[in-house]
Amino acid sequence: MKFINWREREEIKLGILTDRGVLKVAEAASELDMNVPLTLPATMAGGSKAAEALVALVEQAAGAPNAAIYAPIDELDLAPCVTDPGKIICIGLNYSKHAEETGARIPDYPILFNKFNNALSAHGDEVIIPKVTTKVDYEAELAIVIGKRAKDVSEEDALSYVFGYCCANDVSARDLQARTRQWLLGKSCDGFAPIGPYVATADEIADPNALSIQTTVNGELRQNSSTGDMIFSCKTLVSYISQHMTLLPGDIILTGTPEGVIVGYPPEQQVYLQDGDSVTISIEGLGELTNVMRAE
Ligand code: MG
Repeated sequence: MKFINWREREEIKLGILTDRGVLKVAEAASELDMNVPLTLPATMAGGSKAAEALVALVEQAAGAPNAAIYAPIDELDLAPCVTDPGKIICIGLNYSKHAEETGARIPDYPILFNKFNNALSAHGDEVIIPKVTTKVDYEAELAIVIGKRAKDVSEEDALSYVFGYCCANDVSARDLQARTRQWLLGKSCDGFAPIGPYVATADEIADPNALSIQTTVNGELRQNSSTGDMIFSCKTLVSYISQHMTLLPGDIILTGTPEGVIVGYPPEQQVYLQDGDSVTISIEGLGELTNVMRAE
């Protein structure tokens, strides 16, 4: 299944992408008098029973006469597809050609850093270029969404703890990132973690390390690679992180970016993101995540 979050007044509501558009879960459950989880956290907490209930809802809704339980995705005000993660863990330099383009050596261990929830933004949100930076860059990344408590899990079992996957953009202010040895400042400005448009559940992604991944800026292809080029694979990352900190449902792992970022260009060709630039991240099976940049 493909889950989206959308905003209605102050509320975050759950939707499921279907052939008829987005099924509004609460509206459909009410219309069909069915008992299903109404939020993504409740869906994760409910495990296989919750998933079965939602599959049944989608099936029954398909035959329901009331078209108002569906909406075209373009008509909804999308929220981040995960709204309140306990952790946003990011992996640096996890594609060998990206490590090369930045002049860094191939890491012996995964490089971990983080963002906070202030950085989350949704498909369609504008991302503000703060006035404290002139070097904002994109990074297409596959995001892992954890579905079950994971503590010290093996690589073999690691992917069974994954709820799903989504597109992410690890927006990065290179001048702030390089100001000190810790990258945090350049990675954690408001809105610097667009995710979405939806989370596809893990059963839809046969191998998270065999997906094509691209970035375009104003339609021009900038990154074009495969998640198969990761140095540390998804299962390795989940296992490795879980040996050091307990992963919980809703936690997000941004798995690193391939080559083609602006900071990897020769200096005379580095033109950083400007007001009005439209950045689209696309990953096979996970749709397209588009955000327009706005100067503060
Ligand atoms: Mg990154």
